[in-house]
Amino acid sequence: MTNFMLSNAVITDGFSFLMQNGTIEIENNRITKIGKSDEFRNSDVETIDLQGRLVLPGLLNPHHHLYSALATGLAPIGPTSNFNLILENLWWHLDQTLDAESIFYSAIHGLIQSVKYGVTTIFDHHASMNAVRGSLEIIKKAFKEIGVKGLLCYEISDRMGADSVENQLNENINFWEQHHDNRQIQGMLGLHANFTLSEKTLALIRTAKPADMPIHIHCGEDRADYQYCIDYGYAGPVHRLSEFGLLTKDSFLVHCIHLSEKDYELIQEIQPTVISNPESNANNNVGAMDIMKIQKYVLGTDGMTGNILGTMRTHFLQRNGKIDNPLDVQFHWPAELTKRFFPDAGALKVGKRADLAITNYIPVTEINLENLFYHLIFGVQGQAMYMTIADGIILYKNNELQTIDEQEVIKNVKDAVRKLHKKYYE
Ligand SMILES: [Zn+2]
Repeated sequence: MTNFMLSNAVITDGFSFLMQNGTIEIENNRITKIGKSDEFRNSDVETIDLQGRLVLPGLLNPHHHLYSALATGLAPIGPTSNFNLILENLWWHLDQTLDAESIFYSAIHGLIQSVKYGVTTIFDHHASMNAVRGSLEIIKKAFKEIGVKGLLCYEISDRMGADSVENQLNENINFWEQHHDNRQIQGMLGLHANFTLSEKTLALIRTAKPADMPIHIHCGEDRADYQYCIDYGYAGPVHRLSEFGLLTKDSFLVHCIHLSEKDYELIQEIQPTVISNPESNANNNVGAMDIMKIQKYVLGTDGMTGNILGTMRTHFLQRNGKIDNPLDVQFHWPAELTKRFFPDAGALKVGKRADLAITNYIPVTEINLENLFYHLIFGVQGQAMYMTIADGIILYKNNELQTIDEQEVIKNVKDAVRKLHKKYYE
C-alpha cells in the first residue's frame, strides 16, 4: 500500500500545530496533504479510519545500545556495586561475547521493541570487542530489514589495547565515508567515554577524524569520568574533548551529569547536542543531569528500552512535574536533529517523508498545544502504539509487525539468545 489516507485523527507535530478531525494523505512515501477530514470526503484513496486517535510524528531515540537488547535476565559475572563494576561485570563482558549472529539479532530485537513504541529513527552506539570489523554493516542490515532510519557508530575505547583501537577507529571512519548521503543509514564517530580513552588515543583520533565527522560520546556519566579528566589536568570531560579539538556544534554529548563550571560554559558556548537518559541514570545510580544548567537537551534510552515516550514520563515524574519546554525536548529539538542528517524527514509536514507514530489514545477531553504534554503523560502513558509508519510504510499495526513475520523472527532471536547466553557464562 503506497497511497493511502489516515482519517478522523487528532494530528500534531508536537510543537507548532494541532488539528482535530484531521486526515493525512500519504503518496509514494511522503505526506502529500494534511487537512480536515471533510475535505477528503469524495476521495477514492484507500482510507484507514483512526477513530479519533492521536497522531504524532515518528519518534527519535538519539542514544540507544541495540547490542544490549538480548541482555534481559543475564546475571552479572561479578559485583556491581559501582559504575565501573557494572560495566566490567555486565556490559563489557556481554559485548566481548557478541558475534556476527548475536549482533544481528540483538539489533533486530531492539529495533522491533522500538517500532512498537513509535520510534522511526535511532542513533545507535555499538560495541562488540571481539567482532569489530563489519559490525556496523551487520546492524545496518537489521535496520533495513525492519525499516527504521538511523546513525550508527562503534564506541571506541582502550580496554582491548592499541591494535583494537585502530580497528574500532577504522570501523567508524569507513562506515561514515561509505554512507555520507544515504537516505536511511549514516555513520558518526563513536567514543565510549573519556575515562576509557587515553591521551594517546585521543591524539590519534584527533589526527584521523575527518573534520566534519560528528562524535557521539558518554560524557560525565559517573563521577569517575569527571575525576579521570581532573587527574590529567583538565577542567572536566567536556573541557578535555575541547582541548583535543573534538568538541564542535555537531558533537553528541550523552548524560552530562558530572561536569565542572568550565564544562557548562563550553556547552553554552559551542552548543553541542546534549542527550539525557533519565531511566538509565536511575538504574546505574549515577545521579541526574542539571536541567537548570543545561536547558536544551533531548532524551534517549541508553539501551534500557525502546520506549521513548515512557522515558519522557519517567523524566517528568523524577522532576516532580517541573520541566521547562517539554514539547521542545520531546518533539521540536529531535525534529531539528533528525533533519540535520535526513533533510526531508523529521517533520510531520506536507512534502516530508511520512514517519508517523499513531497512538492508541483517543482524547475525550479538550486537547490543544498548551495541554498536549499532559495528554501524553496521562493519556498516552508511554504505551505501545496503534500504528508506526516509516517512509510511508506501515511497519506495525494493532499489535502486529506488518513487514516481517514476527513469530519466525522471534524463533531466530531465541536461537541466538541461547547461544549468546551460553557463551556469556562460559
Ligand atoms: Zn550509552
